[in-house]
Amino acid sequence: MYKLSKAPLISAQQIDTRLESLAQELKAFDFDVILSALTGSYMFSADISRRIANPKLQIAFIKASSYGDSTESNGKVKISGLGDIDIKDKRILVIDDILDTGNTMKSLVESLAELGPASIKTCVLLNKESRRVVDCHADFVGFEIENKFVVGYGLDYANDYRTLPEIWTLEEV
Ligand code: 5GP
Ligand code: MG
Repeated sequence: MYKLSKAPLISAQQIDTRLESLAQELKAFDFDVILSALTGSYMFSADISRRIANPKLQIAFIKASSYGDSTESNGKVKISGLGDIDIKDKRILVIDDILDTGNTMKSLVESLAELGPASIKTCVLLNKESRRVVDCHADFVGFEIENKFVVGYGLDYANDYRTLPEIWTLEEV
């Protein structure tokens, strides 16, 4: 059994402030397509893309799944939806909710690279650096966090908690 921490780890206001500065960093690059990894990054992708607000910036969604209803990655990553997106010669920004072991982002970037994009940059809302198992880093990071399981602002546990506007830690009871 799990329950939410007493207070949010990152408040909606903190997210808002950081997204504003992150959007300024991202605006310096002329990305053609945001590739958002569902489902966890849906809220982050929506909020960051409307702050970049470039009429020529497109958004597409793919599905990368490595977690069942558990809080531990099993290292296997399934990617679907890439076939429908025009990636050749495009400057791609890959967006995910969180960089944990690195398995998901590494697989994503490797699969994308085979499709001949002009460039690939990566952006995650959260980074758990201490959890990294494979060699993978994000070009843009919203927040560095400790090794705690987090939910809210798109992130789930067994599909619950995603719609909360803040980021919370989940504690075992
Ligand atoms: P990785 O492949 O880097 O181990 O894990 C990345 C994926 O695992 C993320 O896209 C996310 O779906 C999930 N994940 C990793 N850590 C957490 C966490 O603390 N909370 C939630 N809700 N999902 C996580
Ligand atoms: Mg995910």
